[in-house]
Amino acid sequence: MALTKKQRTELRMKFDGRCAYCGCELGEKWHADHVEPVYRVAGAMMHADRDCAENLVPACHPCNLHKSCSNLENYRRIIDDGRREFLRSGKGKALVRMGLVEMKSDPVVFWFEQYNVVAPQGAKTE
Ligand SMILES: [Zn+2]
Repeated sequence: MALTKKQRTELRMKFDGRCAYCGCELGEKWHADHVEPVYRVAGAMMHADRDCAENLVPACHPCNLHKSCSNLENYRRIIDDGRREFLRSGKGKALVRMGLVEMKSDPVVFWFEQYNVVAPQGAKTE
């Protein structure tokens, strides 16, 4: 969906001006990402019902490209698999041995999932 300048500004600030996935500060160039993906086949949008403001989050360019047409749980799995592959690789093992990379088994939690837990000022808390 085409966003107005106001909608784009609001979307950019949805998670404090940060990427919904990695939490980096968004620069001038960022993407409106469909959490539940839409994609095009021969020019026709599939899942056009998902092309709505409620399904959009702000994402940095690398996260948007990395997530591609994955839904949230597949994207989480892609990141987790990538972590395991890296840590099993020669380069990953060397970096762990050198103490330059820490092996963590923490679950993959996206920025917007943490953002909702750490309630921003002015947000309702229960
Ligand atoms: Zn990101």
